[in-house]
Amino acid sequence: MGLKLYNTLTAKKEKFIPCKKGHVCMYTCGPTVYDYAHIGNFRAYIFEDLLRRYLKYKGYSVLHVMNVTDIDDKTINGASEAGVSLNEYTQKYIEAFFEDLDALKIERAEHYPRATEHIKEMIDLIQVLLDKGIAYESDGAIYYKIEKFSAYGKLSKKDIDKNIIGARVDHDEYERDDARDFVLWKKHKDGEPSWEAPFGKGRPGWHIECSAMSMKYLGETFDIHTGGEDNIFPHHENEIAQSEGATGKQFVKYWLHCKFLLVNNEKMAKSKGNFYTLRGLLDKDYSPMAIRYLLLSHNYRQPLNFTLEGIEQAQASINRIRDFIQRVKECRLSDIGYGCCSVPIRDARKAFEDALNDDLNIAQAIVPILGLISFVNREIEAQTISQVDKEELLSFFDAIDSVLGILPDTDDTVPTEIQTLADERQKARKKKDFAKADEIREKIDSLGWVIEDTPQGARIKKK
Ligand SMILES: [Zn+2]
Repeated sequence: MGLKLYNTLTAKKEKFIPCKKGHVCMYTCGPTVYDYAHIGNFRAYIFEDLLRRYLKYKGYSVLHVMNVTDIDDKTINGASEAGVSLNEYTQKYIEAFFEDLDALKIERAEHYPRATEHIKEMIDLIQVLLDKGIAYESDGAIYYKIEKFSAYGKLSKKDIDKNIIGARVDHDEYERDDARDFVLWKKHKDGEPSWEAPFGKGRPGWHIECSAMSMKYLGETFDIHTGGEDNIFPHHENEIAQSEGATGKQFVKYWLHCKFLLVNNEKMAKSKGNFYTLRGLLDKDYSPMAIRYLLLSHNYRQPLNFTLEGIEQAQASINRIRDFIQRVKECRLSDIGYGCCSVPIRDARKAFEDALNDDLNIAQAIVPILGLISFVNREIEAQTISQVDKEELLSFFDAIDSVLGILPDTDDTVPTEIQTLADERQKARKKKDFAKADEIREKIDSLGWVIEDTPQGARIKKK
């Protein structure tokens, strides 16, 4: 069965057929670097990571571009409030963003273009729209004339109210009822960064950034554009209007949008005290892999209610899978290589793929994996696992983890420093110096590792 994806543009699940066989070009709206990304942002980035990883699992080569919005209303206001240059202000959040991606094992895209480094492409695109009469100047700023693009509203299914034609909106973000001619180029204001353009000194609006950068790296028509559902209007609607208005060609074939995230059944807001950043959660000692699993294991088109208990359950699920892998590695093998796992592995693989092929139904995809674990646990008890089974199991879990990204990397080998501490702890325990043993355990914990005492001895794992 081939992959099917829900396309917001056509409002149905469609068979995925890329423009170029075997190759996928995909664009993701990246962070606006005016603050640390919050857990809701990461829900979208993890959904995109799942999509990217599954496309690669299916054998596609993937060219993935994620922009970094380092100039817009929010970054400019932030820099001016902090009293530092825009560059200095955004640099800190750009670095934090990449640290967070790594902590959550989100694979890197091939390109992370920054808006401030692509002003020329934006100016060129605005010029095309001006030349075609789709954009116009008013009071030193350039606006997009939505009346000139008859398909305006096709993504968000919005009917444009004829009464507001000609009315303008200057903010980068606005509500659905506020569909108006939107700003492409803002007139220079004192104290704001600006660039020279043939149509006057100024700076780009937010929407033009994504049209210019996606088409530069992926071409005028590409396969997949993703984002959070809050991007559908006005941002993605405007991207379509800008790109298709300029090229006359279809901009994107498949539009995929991730549903929002609730925290304790409420919309996340700083004022409600339910606003979580990744680093805030890590400071409270939650593990990044548990957070990844929680965000990953709910289907992207269902709203997700994020709770701290949910992270703990996710941790328990990961531990179950990780402990299972360890048990397979350590289990006593049967001499009779009859391969009792071959058929269950084949069935689990098929069920895993069938579920993901159905618009990335990850919740369903995990079910056969857990079933396989239960089956193999019983076989381990019965000591019927052969060398062939062990190899097949480990290679199967390697393959599915290329999609899930929750098992420790092979470079998660225990560093010497941690091993030395663990040995010291063992000595302290032998001498019954439990206070010292506990102290060392805490030290190991603070370095990001956990130590577990098992009948086979102490086992050290990354948190
Ligand atoms: Zn965008």
